Amino acid sequence: MSILKRFISYYQPYRVLFFADMFCAVLVSAVDLAFPQILNFLSSNVFTQGRDVILSSIGYAGLLLLALYILKYFCQYFITSWGHIMGARMEADMRLDLFDHYQRLSFSYYDKNNTGEMMSRLVNDLFDVTELAHHGPENIFISVLKIAGSFILLLMINVKMTMLLFLVTLIMVVFSIERNFRMKAVFMDNRVKIAQVNASLQDSLAGIRVVKSFANEEVERNKFCKSNQDFLASKTRSYKMMGGYHAWNSLFTGLLYIAVIVAGGYFIAEGTLHVTELVIYILYINIYVNPLEVLINFTEQFQKGFSGFKRLTDILETQPEIIDKPDAVPLDQVRGEIEFHNVSFRYNNEDDVLHDVSIRIPAGKNIALVGPSGGGKTTLCSLLPRFYDVTAGSITIDGKDIRDLTLKSLRSAIGIVQQDVYMFSGTIKENIAFGKREATEEEIMEAARNANIHDYIMSLEEGYETFVGERGVRLSGGQKQRLAIARVFLKNPPILILDEATSALDNESERYIQQSLEKLSADRTTIVIAHRLSTIRNADEIIVITDEGIKERGTHRELISENGIYSNYYHMQFEGLESATPDY
Ligand code: ADP
Ligand code: MG
Repeated sequence: MSILKRFISYYQPYRVLFFADMFCAVLVSAVDLAFPQILNFLSSNVFTQGRDVILSSIGYAGLLLLALYILKYFCQYFITSWGHIMGARMEADMRLDLFDHYQRLSFSYYDKNNTGEMMSRLVNDLFDVTELAHHGPENIFISVLKIAGSFILLLMINVKMTMLLFLVTLIMVVFSIERNFRMKAVFMDNRVKIAQVNASLQDSLAGIRVVKSFANEEVERNKFCKSNQDFLASKTRSYKMMGGYHAWNSLFTGLLYIAVIVAGGYFIAEGTLHVTELVIYILYINIYVNPLEVLINFTEQFQKGFSGFKRLTDILETQPEIIDKPDAVPLDQVRGEIEFHNVSFRYNNEDDVLHDVSIRIPAGKNIALVGPSGGGKTTLCSLLPRFYDVTAGSITIDGKDIRDLTLKSLRSAIGIVQQDVYMFSGTIKENIAFGKREATEEEIMEAARNANIHDYIMSLEEGYETFVGERGVRLSGGQKQRLAIARVFLKNPPILILDEATSALDNESERYIQQSLEKLSADRTTIVIAHRLSTIRNADEIIVITDEGIKERGTHRELISENGIYSNYYHMQFEGLESATPDY
């Protein structure tokens, strides 16, 4: 879809408002055009008559003009209020579309893009769209109408002078077009730079605890200063350009008037133009010049609004990599048998992170992944809910290729507990209910009990209504982890992934959480990635993954007797040399 077509499509729901707006705009310009016409009529037909005729006529003329200007008043009111409201509604629609699209985009997109920058597109870039959406069609339509109307009327008064006028206008238009291209680039640059300011701000604020703990405020300030200065420089460029543009425009308007007065005087001296005609002519020039100026100023507004819309379009046209197939079927009555068939995977175009991995997990069984950090354990797990798609091979659940299933049903069947959990700013209850939106109070409490957090929640003054703060800052690591587990209990998925769920915790919390994790994984097909090997001793199968692929597999007993990598790790931990644990 072309960008202009896309823009126009946003008018669709507001057709009635749009046409009403246009209609009012036509009336306003008709009133403007009528005034000199009435004056013309008065001066040539009425003012030349006797006193009585003049007096009776101007009463009517006054009333007629009053009626017209009252009409104009109402139209103007409608245009300014409802025209802008229409623009604001379109802007809101665009914002929502972008938000929806952000939600659809795959992880690979988020790997490459910055949150602050993405926010900037949604917030700042659409600021000027209201003005554009409202004034755009009106300005173009009405200005063209007024210019054409007054040009015809000017021609009727004096052809030669109007031709001269046309020539000056032409120069003005050519100049504007040339300027326009340059402004477009500058406004686009403005947007890129403000997005960088946002990105820098977002990064510093999100990491404020790290910044402060390293006492690195100065470093962050310098980074922010840099993007702030860049934005200032970019804005300075655009204001200089706007200054030049506006100044030249008023000079051209001046030139128009000079041309008319000089040429008009010449024609009066020649006897081909009457003084009254010149006065009327100048009145019409006003009507001619005004929309011309509006049109020229509008190009600036257009470039501002459109450069923002262009950035919106860029994202809307980025296709999410992972979407439902047209004939995708829901995954139902899940038994939970998972199979990785010769799976290879790489991020972007880097080397394979996983190469030809085959794993079969019978329904309800428990497997553990062990290996050095960076071996690809998390990556392997993220393929199952299709956060990324395999580059080769396939993954099946109950014998069905996960790419043939609807994403919603697939992801509903999988519960994940990770090392760092995300809490939304809201209440404890809301955060648990994230696992199942329609959950009852009773279900939420049951989940919290299962996660060993109910008693703690009840000890809080506001209980389940306690605010957790942004990202859950008011909770300890162990508490957050237990809330995350409660979420998954509530979700009750047949398949479970525990990715170093307890690694960030102290021994005490870990032991506590281990109980609820064991409860959680009972009767569910579970993949555990564990930091402390003592917790996976009972796994049905333990798989050792290094960056060279699967190196060992078997039960704890088998692997220990193999005396390989696993047994090595195990003994190191067993002997209490936790600090000597390989980096995983
Ligand atoms: P593990 O969980 O075993 O520690 P990961 O699966 O997190 O290992 O990482 C495996 C490899 O993939 C690492 O080399 C890591 O740098 C790389 N990697 C992980 N996530 C991404 C990503 N989103 N984009 C690019 N490379 C990644
Ligand atoms: Mg990992």
